[in-house]
Amino acid sequence: METTGLDGDRDRIIEVFLLSLSKKGDVAEYETLINPERPIPAKITEITGLTDSDLANAPTEKEVAEAIREFVGFGTPVAHNLPFDLRFLNAMFRRNNLVEVSRAGIDTLAISRALFPKLCIYPEGGGSHRLSNLMYHFGLENSYANAHRARDDVMLLIEVFRHLQEYSSGQAQMRFPEPMTHGCPTCGSAMYLTRTDGQSVLTCQKQPSCTVKLVV
Ligand SMILES: [Zn+2]
Repeated sequence: METTGLDGDRDRIIEVFLLSLSKKGDVAEYETLINPERPIPAKITEITGLTDSDLANAPTEKEVAEAIREFVGFGTPVAHNLPFDLRFLNAMFRRNNLVEVSRAGIDTLAISRALFPKLCIYPEGGGSHRLSNLMYHFGLENSYANAHRARDDVMLLIEVFRHLQEYSSGQAQMRFPEPMTHGCPTCGSAMYLTRTDGQSVLTCQKQPSCTVKLVV
């Protein structure tokens, strides 16, 4: 899902990509751009590549809200930072007199935070539990280069969700060392990852007071 900003009530959804997977293995998808009936902030165009003219001929939320609500149905929603998506979806459903989606679901961000309490800080910075960082973490960084469009984010989500499940059930061995996910072995702080000349180095965030530095 892409939006005009971070405020679930005041901002609007500009793109949704929904994928439904049934227990029987049926796959269905629903995808649409949505005209937010307001200018898109420059920063959002920069992140998503979506411009005002891309959305000028897209349906308004009034035209698609019902179809989206039907597609979401009553299954278990899965998203990375699920509360964020539900805030936007439910605000849209309320504005269009539709039934809200229950708050229960699977949030891969919360799972990642619980499994990897001190996930290292990646070269690109930002939130270390971002989908793109988790992809890197799982060695999948080349699978989907084009994150930040709704469809690509969902494809990332599926891969990350699968890996989190395998990791948490002990079915998969990951290639990363423990300090990468659980912090400095000496002081417990998160660590910074740097990559130079093909070498990856973890440096304790507490430096210079803690001097731990590990080649990984
Ligand atoms: Zn340390």
